Amino acid sequence: MKSKVILISIDGMRPDGVLGCGNPYVQTLLQNGSHALDARTVFPSVTLPCHMSMFHSVPPERHGITTNLYMPQVRPINGLFEQAAGAGLSCAMYYGWEPLRDVSRPGSLRFAEYINAYAEDATDGYLTDRAIARIEKSHPDFVFLYMVETDEKGGHDSGWMTQTYLDYISAAIDNARRVIERFGDEYTVIITADHGGHGRGHGSDDPQDMTIPMFFVGKQFTAGQALENVSILDLAPTIAAILEVPAAPEWEGKILVRG
Ligand SMILES: [Zn+2]
Repeated sequence: MKSKVILISIDGMRPDGVLGCGNPYVQTLLQNGSHALDARTVFPSVTLPCHMSMFHSVPPERHGITTNLYMPQVRPINGLFEQAAGAGLSCAMYYGWEPLRDVSRPGSLRFAEYINAYAEDATDGYLTDRAIARIEKSHPDFVFLYMVETDEKGGHDSGWMTQTYLDYISAAIDNARRVIERFGDEYTVIITADHGGHGRGHGSDDPQDMTIPMFFVGKQFTAGQALENVSILDLAPTIAAILEVPAAPEWEGKILVRG
């Protein structure tokens, strides 16, 4: 069942963080779509390496990005953006952390907007507004919306699982709700995180850093179903399958849509 896709990455969102943030829409997500509350990210549990793995479906030892400093791949692999653009699809990206620009190669994006996380009080909300306006106008085939305030202003500034952190997650879920309520008929929406965290940081192989939640809302997924043994490497193949674009031959993850 082909459809367009919106992927929402909420940086540093732990499963117990989203379940405990107090936003009633989390229950709606659990009931209306499939979910994985114990999905695994890759080590090191750091933003750029994890997002490279999210889009390229290989672990950091293969794509070579092991810190937040981007280095051109020695043995380049096409990521999801390159595969989608190569198939003629239109791609868009809205992000609040500048190094993420390198998850796609030049020429893959038809629309993009970046804003620094401290440039406005509610960066994630602003980017969501911008993405919504673009989707209304241009209906891109694949949209990536990245929210950073949960990690920077919640986790690092205040501490993982503090009330401030939980409040930022709740705000991010409200942004996701706005997207789903507006475009849920036209798009399959996937909500995930790059990594978790504990104390004031992340990056270790501790389960608190390595375990991430995922929510899948769309006609390819069974409502209320818990998916098991899910990895961040599964996202690119799953989204490519929904968009009906080919996976790159190097991708290692599996397709999560029902057969
Ligand atoms: Zn961080």
